[in-house]
Amino acid sequence: MQKKKSSVFPGGVHPTDGTDKILSMDKAVQQYWPDTVTILSEQSFGGKCRFVVSPGDTVAEGQMIGEPEAFMAAPLHASVSGKVLEIKEVLNQGRKIPACIIEREKEHQETDWGFRKEAADISGISREEILKALRDGGLTGMGGAGFPTHKKYETDKAIDTLLINGAECEPYLTCDYRLMLEEGYALVNGVRLLLKGSGAKKAYICMEDNKPKAAENLERILDAVQKAGVMTEEGQVELAVLPTKYPQGGERQLIQAVTGREVPMGGLPADAGVIVSNVGTARAAADMILGGLPLIRRIVTVTGCVKEPGNYLVPIGTSAKELLKLAGGVTVSQNRVIAGGPMTGPCVASDWNGEEELFYITKNTSGILVLADSAWEEQPCIRCGGCENACPAGLTPWQIDFAFQEEDYDLCEKLYASECIACGCCSYVCPAKRELSVRTRMARDAVKQKMRERAVKKA
Ligand code: SF4
Ligand code: SF4
Repeated sequence: MQKKKSSVFPGGVHPTDGTDKILSMDKAVQQYWPDTVTILSEQSFGGKCRFVVSPGDTVAEGQMIGEPEAFMAAPLHASVSGKVLEIKEVLNQGRKIPACIIEREKEHQETDWGFRKEAADISGISREEILKALRDGGLTGMGGAGFPTHKKYETDKAIDTLLINGAECEPYLTCDYRLMLEEGYALVNGVRLLLKGSGAKKAYICMEDNKPKAAENLERILDAVQKAGVMTEEGQVELAVLPTKYPQGGERQLIQAVTGREVPMGGLPADAGVIVSNVGTARAAADMILGGLPLIRRIVTVTGCVKEPGNYLVPIGTSAKELLKLAGGVTVSQNRVIAGGPMTGPCVASDWNGEEELFYITKNTSGILVLADSAWEEQPCIRCGGCENACPAGLTPWQIDFAFQEEDYDLCEKLYASECIACGCCSYVCPAKRELSVRTRMARDAVKQKMRERAVKKA
């Protein structure tokens, strides 16, 4: 059943020009298996692992190669079968990170699992087995910060609602859209497993109303799964179709739009009785729990100023440079290469000439975007209030910006900089082209660090 939701969160923007997603949304996902993969020991900020293999070792696809060393880390697995060439530091988005380089030795062979084409019977799988599989399989959020999934699901808070995030509100990105179109059964089976793992009785697959084909496809599959009579104990799964508005896919914004609840300041979705997971995460959960395949691959959108924009299913550790080559190369010499979408993704290179390595695909890399560079200079703030109106977190970005530049972190805290979700709306609307979101994000991190230090002193 499809539920149309008209409720929206405050603030937000409409950054699309209506053509950005069109570049890649009608292109079916192509598979690409590179000769070598470079698997980073850090797949999300602060998520460090220690490699447990050595150069010369033969590894099989899915074999565990990295053990977590930090709270934000999840185990790493070989994304191809082959030989470990080197363990060394590589430059990734300007930072040196230890990585395991594997030379692929075997042709990739895809297993034709039934759960990818029909409703699976999950009645014999317990909640504990689901949580263990998520932990062992190294599942992390595939749409946001890359938080280990099992940590979300092992909460002691009472969860009554699971939101599966297919909003994909960032312009240009279409990897989640293609997944909802092409991998509907695996996605729905994964949602049912996560629903059971969460302990909730209701899940919504959420998307914006600019994806009608995906909504039709999932509605058809949900009907078929219902009729198959396998959905007995795990609860209900419905579609929630939401107005198109950025950042509809932000956790807090999605929770507010679908459930009407607000996550308390400084709190987590679980404090509102909700867990939010990306559609890619749910789809990977099906592979993991029903197929025994850890998180070793993902779909990546390669788009913008490239000859052949498209979506590619690739092993973790694929080089962004290789993917841009596969997409026909960049079409403008004055360019900016962005890892992810244009609103939140970091710019990793300017005027990239196609030669230097850029970065390697991690579990949460959703896209590689090339934009034509337009030079601009920041101008003084004209107090127009645009950034305040656009901020979905209800902040005053221009004030935080001033306070941050004055290094007045006490004032940043008083202005609730810790609540910034780094969505980029303020920068997008600013007529003075101020780099607000970069600085509000830095202010947020500084304030959070202060808060942590205070908590440690108190303890
Ligand atoms: S201050 Fe933060 S939350 Fe508000 S619009 Fe800017 S980036 Fe988004
Ligand atoms: S949008 Fe830009 S110019 Fe307007 S108040 Fe905010 S910072 Fe100042």
